[in-house]
Amino acid sequence: MIPVIALVGRPNVGKSTLFNRLTRSRDALVADFPGLTRDRQYGQGRVGGKPYILIDTGGISGDETGIDAAMARQSLLAIDEADIVLFLVDARAGLTAADESIATYLRQNGKQAHLVVNKLDGLDPDMALAEFYSLAMNAPYQIAAAHNRGVTGMISDLLEAVDSEEDDDAALLAHPEDAEQEGTEQEGTEQESDGTESDQRPARDLKIGVIGRPNVGKSTLVNRILGEERVVVFDQPGTTRDAISIPFERNGKGYTLVDTAGIRRRKNVSETAEKFSIVKTLQSIRECNVAVMVMDARTGLVEQDLHLLDFVLESGRALVLAINKWDGMTQDDKQAIKQDIERRLGFVDYADIHFISALHGTGVGNVFKSIEKAYASATTHWSTNRLTNLLIDAVAEHQPPVTQGRRIKLRYAHQGGVNPPIIVVHGNQTNRLPDNYKRYLMNTFRKVLKVRGTPMRFEFRSGE
Ligand code: GDP
Ligand code: GDP
Repeated sequence: MIPVIALVGRPNVGKSTLFNRLTRSRDALVADFPGLTRDRQYGQGRVGGKPYILIDTGGISGDETGIDAAMARQSLLAIDEADIVLFLVDARAGLTAADESIATYLRQNGKQAHLVVNKLDGLDPDMALAEFYSLAMNAPYQIAAAHNRGVTGMISDLLEAVDSEEDDDAALLAHPEDAEQEGTEQEGTEQESDGTESDQRPARDLKIGVIGRPNVGKSTLVNRILGEERVVVFDQPGTTRDAISIPFERNGKGYTLVDTAGIRRRKNVSETAEKFSIVKTLQSIRECNVAVMVMDARTGLVEQDLHLLDFVLESGRALVLAINKWDGMTQDDKQAIKQDIERRLGFVDYADIHFISALHGTGVGNVFKSIEKAYASATTHWSTNRLTNLLIDAVAEHQPPVTQGRRIKLRYAHQGGVNPPIIVVHGNQTNRLPDNYKRYLMNTFRKVLKVRGTPMRFEFRSGE
């Protein structure tokens, strides 16, 4: 599972500066779902190819007398959700009573936190650090977030520690990307070799993540799928943390609904806001092969839908869009939402869109057809020959520009991965390829290879 790092500390110590350094701000997802405070920000970062989720808690008010009261609810939630807590202090301001209260709080709650001393730029580290030793925490990380000093090293160090913990964890879930990188096909390994499983599960296991804001109809859709006559639900395998995966078979094909905790059991809608977790949503996006993003036709598209889609896009997962609650909509309303979708969802135009009613079961079969199609596209293997010929044709059709007196040469292409498909293009001076030329190549490859339902990635390498 993708590790979660939470930033805590009093205001002004540099949490947002660090957050912005580590995430692309475009990804920042603010928890403004009903019932949640606005102050938590979620983002995704990556160090050495390893992704993680970062939560910025926005700031603990720093009331020295009552940390329990002062510690905002959202900070507590963020700490709960996190694998790693980073407790930031400000070297310029020195140790404050609020810092001490926060340290005490963390200690009492048994949450292991790492002390991070920020704003060390231009200071003598030994002098600056000395007073923080009274917090009795482990050796602090020393950084200057504003100058990007010590930041990357700190994160990779922390992620490595999490990694080695997880290596000991027998229940570790294989991640589709990991499987790909090691060149081993993980599919089918779920077939138990000890023969204890009575039901034979199909060899293929396509992981579906049903995602979306609260109340859009995710659990109705999941229950609808699992309640279908032609679906065989298998016994649940071991759970990892609090994630529950539900394996099932439909029309002879194997699927698993990932991270559906709280969805299947829940009958009561009033629990929605509390049960919703952005971290879980991000985890399911990471863990699935195909994300089914559910949106609500009644409310129309909202900002949060677009942010979630940004995450899917960034994660490279295949995608199917389901506009739910299509039952009982007036023609005018249907027209209006279709126009809105056309205007605002252009950035995921590779994904199929279905207008469904989870309540009545209308359109669910088509969603499955698109899931299959998206998965097939996302996991196709093309030969180097095929890709190279395609590249040569595309270049013949439309030459790369001349830069600094030399024409950029593109020589051959090979596939670097699946789900998402990665195309690696080799040539020289590829770092000078203009964006519009890259877009031309991407569009050509997508069209000729008939890739639907999945983002594609391109990497350009220079041989010189
Ligand atoms: P937050 O309230 O904890 O999120 O703090 P901010 O990230 O908003 O930072 C508070 C102030 O500290 C801003 O003026 C930042 O520019 C400044 N700051 C953050 N990191 C550094 C640093 O590494 N060095 C210095 N000198 N200033 C910093
Ligand atoms: P979740 O929070 O995304 O899991 O949403 P739920 O599945 O709990 O659904 C929220 C509310 O929307 C419930 O009252 C459902 O009965 C209702 N709902 C779900 N799907 C549909 C649908 O297709 N049509 C209509 N009219 N209502 C729906």
